[in-house]
Amino acid sequence: MPDFIDNFEPPPQLLQRASLFLDIDGTLLELAASPHAVIVSAAAINVVRLAQEKLEGRVALISGRSAREVAALFPGLALNIGGSHGMEQLWADGRTNQPVRPEVLDHALAALRAFCAQHAGLLVEDKPYGTALHYRTAPHLADESHALASRLATETGLVLQPGKMVVELKASATNKGDALAAFMSAPPMHGGTPVFLGDDDNDEPAFAMARKLGGAGILVGEPRDTHADWRLPNVGATLAWLRAGLEATT
Ligand SMILES: [Mg+2]
Repeated sequence: MPDFIDNFEPPPQLLQRASLFLDIDGTLLELAASPHAVIVSAAAINVVRLAQEKLEGRVALISGRSAREVAALFPGLALNIGGSHGMEQLWADGRTNQPVRPEVLDHALAALRAFCAQHAGLLVEDKPYGTALHYRTAPHLADESHALASRLATETGLVLQPGKMVVELKASATNKGDALAAFMSAPPMHGGTPVFLGDDDNDEPAFAMARKLGGAGILVGEPRDTHADWRLPNVGATLAWLRAGLEATT
């Protein structure tokens, strides 16, 4: 059961011997009006690079974005990536685990695009293993957006994945917790204790899995019911905590 956690800053020692799993949007990077408008700060890049060095490669980025998009946000870094909510797994050494794209995604994409064409302010995102409807700039369309996505999920068998000002239809029920478990079963991540940082509801399975495997979850954002054990208030505090903890890691 999730517990309500209030204001517990994680101890920096948590990063000693950690296998560090990081969500990107809302955790390492400030949320933007659309996924393409996000700004990759030098501070975020430096923290990822520092983690790779201090944790001897035991760092993975776990995102709702496609693995290809994650790699493009952090160019020049050989990363372990759990993309598309964990459905795709890419290891820094070149190993990959990528499912087949179901054809029904095209039907869902066309339906969302038709809806989008009738309403200003909506954005449809075509992803390799999902299709997402963003209503951040049209919040009054939240209910209609969720109703449409829910109907399409029933029609197609695609899996509904709500997020912050977005609803997505994804190819399978694989979640970020499954991705964390997959990474923890193989090198280089299996050598450490899992620590997962994330901000959204879809990060909850990864908080729960990190705890189940003997590690911990850190919620970024306001207090809420969560499977995380600790909390940091925002992106800035998260980057500062990571930098300080990693610099102290021997
Ligand atoms: Mg996020």
